[in-house]
Amino acid sequence: TVQQWDVIVIGAGAAGLFCGIESARRGRRTLLLDHANKPGKKILMSGGGRCNFTNFDITPEHYLSANPHFVRSALSRYTQWDFIALVDRYAIPYHEKTLGQLFCDNSAKDIVTMLLAELDDAGGQLQMQTDILSVGDDGEQFVLSTTEGDLSCASLVVATGGLSIPTMGASDFGYRLARQYGHEVRDLRASLVPFTWNTQDKTSWSALSGISAPVTVSAENGQAFTLDCLITHRGLSGPAMLQISNYWQPGQSLMIDWLPGVDISAQLAADRHQQGRKTVKGWLTQWLPQRLAEHFVEQSQVQGALADLTREQSLRLSSMINHWPFRPGGTEGYRTAEVTLAGVDTQAISSKTMMSSKRQGLYFVGEVLDVTGWLGGYNFQWAWSSGWAAGQVC
Ligand code: FAD
Repeated sequence: TVQQWDVIVIGAGAAGLFCGIESARRGRRTLLLDHANKPGKKILMSGGGRCNFTNFDITPEHYLSANPHFVRSALSRYTQWDFIALVDRYAIPYHEKTLGQLFCDNSAKDIVTMLLAELDDAGGQLQMQTDILSVGDDGEQFVLSTTEGDLSCASLVVATGGLSIPTMGASDFGYRLARQYGHEVRDLRASLVPFTWNTQDKTSWSALSGISAPVTVSAENGQAFTLDCLITHRGLSGPAMLQISNYWQPGQSLMIDWLPGVDISAQLAADRHQQGRKTVKGWLTQWLPQRLAEHFVEQSQVQGALADLTREQSLRLSSMINHWPFRPGGTEGYRTAEVTLAGVDTQAISSKTMMSSKRQGLYFVGEVLDVTGWLGGYNFQWAWSSGWAAGQVC
């Protein structure tokens, strides 16, 4: 026998739960299926366990997609203020950490508990630990063959997320299903991810691991961020590097300014008269951590006092500090990436309803789509907004 549903949502993560809540509220018999042992696992581990659930400042400019306008409709119809109102209704304590980023005071569990309460209240059903073996289609109904039996539905919502953190249940199911229906999947890449050293830099830099400093990092396309950078054994991490990873392509270089706001060349010219007897290292430590200052002095092969620097040495030092070209060996990949860049091409998806133009009743929501947000609550807001949009009509 085939169990019949109005709506089946594949994936009980952020977007799937939100979509399921909305469709169940409309009286649609809704089932959420997931192969993991519990729902919302990524929500639970997000934001260091505190879930950066949205941002005060949500605009389309915080998202990457082949079609930059695609996000507009959903983000403007279900906004950060709507989600904040929901969080307030559940009296979940939260705070702004920095740059508009909203985190739970206590635990990300508060958000999952809220979503499950909403789903329950709306009458949606949740079925975990279910593998979907195939998706068939009789032209009207989708027919899902699963490890727990056969199911059919009029509307099928794909909310299977991206590829990052495979140990949390990530799979390529959504991309495969998209291709099955003739959708293009744009080149996938691990993103919001730390960079690894190339072999040459590793030797000279990994001894500095643990140091954190504000930097300006720029990508070849001109995008730049001024945020903290963390030096690690494996490479460069911290918010500056995670943000710029969305704009970096393998093989490209990044430009790092280790002292944003201080033009070393100009500052040297100004200080070499009054402070000429200071060592270069001592002079640099007014802005830089000691070990980092030492590193720049050694690498640019300058010695002695400010007054003794040749023009060539000054140039070497200033370009090393203000314009350091970093060619990453690569990234840490899906093992630690927060998101998957790109995904199901939005060209064949309605920006209003998230429905496929290839098959009536088929929807894609959340990270599986070619929409990637900045670090800072933007990816969850996309999950809520796109899930909500599909939930109004599916
Ligand atoms: P997911 O939440 O990943 O949900 C997908 C669901 O589909 C999962 O439950 C999975 O088990 C299920 N699934 C997958 N394949 C199958 C299959 N074949 N069969 C059945 N079920 C399947 N974003 C923010 O905005 N703020 C943060 O603080 C933040 N922190 C993060 C921290 C980490 C470590 C990571 C990895 C990500 C973080 N993100 C954060 C990104 C955010 O978690 C995702 O963008 C968001 O969860 C995407 O929602 P989604 O519903 O599309 O996918």
